[in-house]
Amino acid sequence: MTRLFNHKPTAELQSLDAAHHMHPFTNGAQLAEKGTRVITRAQGCTLTDSDGAEILDAMAGLWCVNIGYGRDELARAAFEQMQELPYYNTFFQTSHPPVIELAQRIAALTPFDLNHVFFANGGSDANDTNIRMVRTYWALKGKPSKKTIISRVNAYHGSTVGAASLGGMTPMHEQGGLPIPDITHIKQPHWWAEGGEMSPEEFGLHAARALEREIERLGQDNVAAFIAEPVQGAGAVIVPPETYWPEIQRICDEHEILLIADEVICGFGRTGNWFGSQTFGIRPDIMTIAKGLSSGYAPIGASVVSDEVAAVIDSAEFNHGYTYSGHPVSCAVALENLRILDEEGIVERVKTETAPYLREKWMTFADHPLVGEVRISGMMAALQLTPDKASRAAFAAAPGTVGTICRDFCFGANLIMRHVKDSMIISPPLVITKSEIDEMADRAHKALDLTYDRLKDEGLLVAAG
Ligand SMILES: *Cc1c(COP(=O)(O)O)cnc(C)c1O
Repeated sequence: MTRLFNHKPTAELQSLDAAHHMHPFTNGAQLAEKGTRVITRAQGCTLTDSDGAEILDAMAGLWCVNIGYGRDELARAAFEQMQELPYYNTFFQTSHPPVIELAQRIAALTPFDLNHVFFANGGSDANDTNIRMVRTYWALKGKPSKKTIISRVNAYHGSTVGAASLGGMTPMHEQGGLPIPDITHIKQPHWWAEGGEMSPEEFGLHAARALEREIERLGQDNVAAFIAEPVQGAGAVIVPPETYWPEIQRICDEHEILLIADEVICGFGRTGNWFGSQTFGIRPDIMTIAKGLSSGYAPIGASVVSDEVAAVIDSAEFNHGYTYSGHPVSCAVALENLRILDEEGIVERVKTETAPYLREKWMTFADHPLVGEVRISGMMAALQLTPDKASRAAFAAAPGTVGTICRDFCFGANLIMRHVKDSMIISPPLVITKSEIDEMADRAHKALDLTYDRLKDEGLLVAAG
């Protein structure tokens, strides 16, 4: 297909990008040397770059484009809302139809009595809201000492100062003097890396009981909440053992600790249900949502709050909010996105058709010599690479060396599959078809084979000592 490009030539875009655009989570100097890949268009699950190459996006952008690219309905919803009311705030006794409708829609979709929505611009600032919300909740209940929030090592809750403090990513803590006070981290339920001699079931209980030990160490009267992703996404799709979440729920209930489920990735169909909490039997007091809420077409996030928590927060003035809390255009886009997810049965199809199909395909990777563990929940999955399956060893090379090699082979094969250290991860648009899943798996297999050969050639197929 010939097509006239409506943009500057690739080399010029790359050099302007290097000159003026600072990229998130990137070594800018290294990137400038390699040059960025410039994405210009997208449709369904396929991206097009500035040279016209077509790339299969097995990451749905950043875990967010749940309904796939190119849905004109969302563009129209944004256009019409901008004409009608492009902006108004919700601070001073005012509201507007899209925010009201969206809050009601979210309340109806979320389980239990999560019926109250505080809007943010994305997941990070929704989690900042949560920090303020849970501490305010306990203060208003006459227990101001209940301030500490317990999170987990290798958790991702966003990149603002508050959200990165909740997160358990040490490289993020090292820059900028994080975490902020009164946030602590317990171990993650990552059996492959940390389970030792325990069975996954034993380890699930063990990892959950780390929460109980931490509450006892801090004193229950000092703990406000526990926050966790149902499945750790950015941590490398860590699917907890089945024993983990029921035990976490028991501990939160028994110790009067609010439970925050960070559903930013797991929400809106990713795990095969509307919410990861439904997949894992979690009963949260607060849910963080973002990403799939608008399928990434417009920035929006929110904290969804139980009747009880909302009643307490509403009893005083909550001194918090964002200029763009409940932005009308983002709300209109999110509403249209939710309508499509629902009316086209996309979440249902993930559960009954495509996620089981993906699972079948993904399990075949267990036979590959480089793959130590296959992790999958609905439409998110990981391949844990290892030089020695039997001992579940890490590579001797610095973490991420092998993952980067494999990622580059995927990129070269026009497949976007991300690496987290030495795990390869996918989180495709929920509308991915079976034949696209086949194609994705084929390209991933080839990339793994090439990686294996490269590791042998370079003497990297060596276990850490
Ligand atoms: C992406 C993510 C966030 C942060 O959301 P932003 O929209 O980037 O601020 C928070 N929590 C989880 C689990 C995420 O994956």
